[in-house]
Amino acid sequence: MSARDAYLRAMGIEAWTLRAAPQPLSMPRMPVERLDWTELEQVVSACVRCPLHLNRTRTVFGVGNRHAEWMIIGEAPGAEEDRRGEPFVGRAGQLLDAMLRAAGFDRADVFIANVLKCRPPRNRDPQGAEIAQCAPYLARQIELVAPKLILAVGRIAAHHLLGSDAPVGRLRGTVHRLGAAGVPLVVTYHPAYLLRSPGEKRKTWQDLCLARAAMVAP
Ligand code: URA
Repeated sequence: MSARDAYLRAMGIEAWTLRAAPQPLSMPRMPVERLDWTELEQVVSACVRCPLHLNRTRTVFGVGNRHAEWMIIGEAPGAEEDRRGEPFVGRAGQLLDAMLRAAGFDRADVFIANVLKCRPPRNRDPQGAEIAQCAPYLARQIELVAPKLILAVGRIAAHHLLGSDAPVGRLRGTVHRLGAAGVPLVVTYHPAYLLRSPGEKRKTWQDLCLARAAMVAP
């Protein structure tokens, strides 16, 4: 006890000490399926649900028209996307833009998102646990956009959305239906794959035609 405290006690004066600051009550976590766009974007940008947050530069939420007719779903951000915080901005993204233009859309007309919002190290495949943690964000984005058509680009997006492990070559060429709303979903090759196998671009053109037809006559 300090001399000052001893004097105060001797004089019958209660010494006041500062208590620890009250802890702010933690806000109850709102279920992702009830978040609006602004809340969802904030929650994603602060997400620490899986270890991918440790190495990200930015989360890659998704871009485009939030009332789009077409929603494009890819796999996960790469290096350039991680740096810029926007999906499909690298070489694969330029090819995706060209594919969209061929189908009559500008990049800004559609909504583009990925299964994962953070970049996996060295661009490895997303792991099941990472997809499971991130899945509610994509599901909510699909609900909010309420697209007339979903284009799943590549194996990871197709497998996640369709709950299938069939090769892309077998999943493409059919109009699938997603969820209770039965949103038409078409699978096509990932533009990164098309950069390596340009001979497959012709099939991608067929997929885009199928997607256009599915939207017009669901
Ligand atoms: N590949 C993807 O699947 N998504 C991106 O955003 C970039 C590359």
